[in-house]
Amino acid sequence: MKQSRSVTEKENTYEERASWPPYTYRDYADIAPETYEAFMEFLTTENTSNKVMELQPWISFCDSRCTFCYYPNNPYRSSMMEPYLKMLRKELMMYAETNYVKTSEFDEIVLGGGTPSLMTKDQMFSLIKFCEDNFNTVDNYFIKITGSSRSFSKEKLVAAAEYGVYQVDMGAQTFDDKLRKMLNLPDSAEHVAEEIKLARKLGLCVCIDIMYNIPGQTLESWTNTVKRAIELDAEVDAYCLEVYPGTILYKQMQEGRAPPQADEELQKQMYITAYELFKEAGYKAIGHDRYSRDKWHEKENCINGWPWAGILTTGAGCFMGYLQKFSYSNIENAQDYMDAVNQGRYPIAKLSESTERDMIRKVMTRLYIRLPVDKLEFKEKFGKLPEDVYPEQLKRLKEKGLIEITDEEIRLTELGDLWKANIAWEFAEK
Ligand code: SF4
Repeated sequence: MKQSRSVTEKENTYEERASWPPYTYRDYADIAPETYEAFMEFLTTENTSNKVMELQPWISFCDSRCTFCYYPNNPYRSSMMEPYLKMLRKELMMYAETNYVKTSEFDEIVLGGGTPSLMTKDQMFSLIKFCEDNFNTVDNYFIKITGSSRSFSKEKLVAAAEYGVYQVDMGAQTFDDKLRKMLNLPDSAEHVAEEIKLARKLGLCVCIDIMYNIPGQTLESWTNTVKRAIELDAEVDAYCLEVYPGTILYKQMQEGRAPPQADEELQKQMYITAYELFKEAGYKAIGHDRYSRDKWHEKENCINGWPWAGILTTGAGCFMGYLQKFSYSNIENAQDYMDAVNQGRYPIAKLSESTERDMIRKVMTRLYIRLPVDKLEFKEKFGKLPEDVYPEQLKRLKEKGLIEITDEEIRLTELGDLWKANIAWEFAEK
């Protein structure tokens, strides 16, 4: 395969590709009384950000455990779903009744998790209807449902299409059956493909996760997975697997029961291979790891509004929540979560409030998610330009051909795209 010159010719721009972010949500600060008070005060204020948000009710149950999974989830028992949904609706209402949320608008309702497709069809759509009835949505808002290829039955997919759901998200991970078995992904690659085909036939946008850097994965296996995703006309999140301590896979690797991951060179080849194959197939790289052929995805507001907008997330173990300068995650254990909500408490476990310096750094991470830094907005918020705050870094990155700077904005070049995590590190706290 031909590789674009711009991506390969200056491969020594940095010695090696970095990972980002340097922390996970589990590193957020535990909830402190003064931060909680500040958050409660914030919720009484009006949302004057002029940014629309994403609403993300979270179903934190899974019916099997992927060996690489680092996320909090709870083993699925159908008898728990109704009591859980009752508490989830109660938590949603706690937010819906605040001044901040009453004065906010949402352009996406995303059932996240976990595995929301484990809900029955009726549970799923009554939750969506509940969100529609209690939160302000913009005229053209989008509904997305996350799930597994095993639990999105034909009945649920047909109902989703009829309801007007825009997208279903599935964690395909790989179309290599040998790797699927190692990762404890119970259904076959063929079955995943059939589910995607069915959803596409029904007119649903399908977004799948695929991973490179799986232990034992070859470049050929990865290339086949990328090509299969393209053939299936899926939107794709193609990300590099990080094996975190505490996961089953980590233990298996430590004990020699799983092979090692790719070396730095092979990882880079995998990244470039995917980048080039997707580009040839008409996809555009957007966001963290997304390859998209859908123009609308470039305009998704919760991403584009970073870090001034918000994701209002709810449910046990949800961790992507941010409302302007506040970031939070919820209690992970489903029963503890339900008990907290039942007592009328916000079930927040970790909460942090960003300082102005933090917000400046967050604005610069827009480059990592392939978004421009708007210089005028920066000046309006902080009273100075990015060049005043980071003169050396920006000069160096521009000289290396990694970014372009105009009077209006700073954005990545195609070469910078390959090094976006390293670029994010340039603005991180050392
Ligand atoms: S489906 Fe997702 S949340 Fe559930 S175990 Fe697998 S990776 Fe974890």
